[in-house]
Amino acid sequence: MQSYKDVVEDYIKRQIFSETGEAFLDLSIQEDVIYSEFDFLGRMLCQKYIEGDSSFYLLDSVQVQAAAVHGHQAVLVCKGMLDLIFRTSAMMVGAERRQKSPEDEFYEPWVNNLSYWFKSAEFDWSDERYWWLYQDDYRKAFEMLAEGLFVFLVLHEIGHLHNLHGDRRAGNSKSAPPSSSSSTDEVFVHEAMSGGEAMSEADRLAAHTREIIADTYAFQFMLVELRESLLPESEYIGYDEGALRSVHFGVCIYMVASLFWAFSFQRPMRNDTQEDDYPSHLFRLQSIEATSLEHQLAGGNKETYDGMALGIQTYTQKLICAAGDEGFVSWRMAANLPANHEHYKKVCEMTDEWSNIKFGVRNEDWLRWPF
Ligand SMILES: [Zn+2]
Repeated sequence: MQSYKDVVEDYIKRQIFSETGEAFLDLSIQEDVIYSEFDFLGRMLCQKYIEGDSSFYLLDSVQVQAAAVHGHQAVLVCKGMLDLIFRTSAMMVGAERRQKSPEDEFYEPWVNNLSYWFKSAEFDWSDERYWWLYQDDYRKAFEMLAEGLFVFLVLHEIGHLHNLHGDRRAGNSKSAPPSSSSSTDEVFVHEAMSGGEAMSEADRLAAHTREIIADTYAFQFMLVELRESLLPESEYIGYDEGALRSVHFGVCIYMVASLFWAFSFQRPMRNDTQEDDYPSHLFRLQSIEATSLEHQLAGGNKETYDGMALGIQTYTQKLICAAGDEGFVSWRMAANLPANHEHYKKVCEMTDEWSNIKFGVRNEDWLRWPF
């Protein structure tokens, strides 16, 4: 009898690696210890948030991809996705330094060059121009931001497992007429940035709804997971708890906005309609914000509104500063188009169908402060 671990690894090798020629990431030969640290963190998050057996693997693949393997309770993150996270964090540290020292000269490979910066496959740990890796304060900020983005990403995949998206898709497909590909596996692989295959309107709406549910699940637990690393209790004794929650919320939404903006270069998509098979990254950001306000995710109306105001101000200023232009504002403003509001309403009407009935539907199931 095979152990859970053997079964999962066999499955991944047979179903995923056999097609792509990829492999599990060999942590012993990576250029930086951060790969091992993230591997550990990913496993911890899976153990904490997934009931029963779970597993987490980093894959040696340049794809900018993460996936949840339904049925095996496994989360996979490709090295290419980590590289995008590192690039995003570097840009964010760059924004910090640029704001603080507007006149200084330093290496900013992302300025007026975001598309190239976010699309290059490899993050070069040996590049001596990468000052954010060699100066202690900047290095610390770089790691903290990268960790935050990674936590959100892993929690998003866990969100698909938690909300039983694989089981529900399997249930749906049983009532559908048999297709030519009758060898469909029982196990669904849900990818972070899938796309390509043609979908019906109903399937597309359902796919968007699943993403939005996984995102809001991820965001609320990102708040929990990052609180101690961003605002260590020992350093904030005597501070107003409500104000701290707002600040914390503001930083987390800034991180998510930066990640989605990076995704939008990696995989450009129209932001003025939501006719893509995958919801636009802008739409995902807007949905997280709307849900946060609705469910008061910073622990109260005032705290959440203050946190949101701070977050929007922060990401707008910092991302303009990082890029050297106002491209971010044009991207963000597309959320105001009526087509997006109508789409959001349709997605909201479907959330009950794709949420775990034990969680995430009823108001009383939302996270309550203190954690
Ligand atoms: Zn997803």
